[in-house]
Amino acid sequence: MEKLILSEIEVEELCKRVAAQMDKQMDEDGSNLPVLLGIMNGALPFMYQLVKNIKHPNEIDTMQVSSYNGTASTGELIIKKKPDRVLEGKDVYIIEDIIDTGLTMHLLRKYIMETYKPRHLYVVIMVKRAVDKPHYQEVADFTGVVLEEQRYIVGYGFDYYGIGRCLPYVFVPSEDDFKKWDEILLKDNPDFKIAKR
Ligand code: 5GP
Repeated sequence: MEKLILSEIEVEELCKRVAAQMDKQMDEDGSNLPVLLGIMNGALPFMYQLVKNIKHPNEIDTMQVSSYNGTASTGELIIKKKPDRVLEGKDVYIIEDIIDTGLTMHLLRKYIMETYKPRHLYVVIMVKRAVDKPHYQEVADFTGVVLEEQRYIVGYGFDYYGIGRCLPYVFVPSEDDFKKWDEILLKDNPDFKIAKR
């Protein structure tokens, strides 16, 4: 590990705080069975920790998406799994692990609004990078932590080609970590191409 970003206790405290804010919002809105829509796979540990702490009756659902970046201001949303529940007229909370440029969330928010017409749509983010891209970063309604660190992070939902997602803390991996993981990935799949990071 190069640097610890969030300890296990800090992650739990962050989730409790965000869950309390969401509970308050649900009460204020008079929400009837709001939907927590977790974006797979990265948001699953975060959603599990949130839902343990939310008192308001709710249901969970999942979506899987990625985005293809066209230019700096456009992009295409690729939908791999649609939600299963009816979202029309519902209070929906998109749960996501990180906003980096914010492009994926910008496109996803627009897609859900236009396709499902929820009553309210909120965006809940565990980690938001403190980058100078305000037009995209605006899309979060509830934020766990704003991260000054610009390097790649792993743990608690964040993975390196699937590795590290279930660790209970968040950290910046060291070069040795990456080398070790590359060996595991190559052993698992000889065609694995080591990407730049
Ligand atoms: P955006 O569209 O906001 O630029 O990208 C968001 C996506 O990039 C996230 O859902 C996540 O999958 C990925 N991502 C961005 N930064 C990191 C990081 O530091 N670590 C990991 N594991 N994934 C990241």
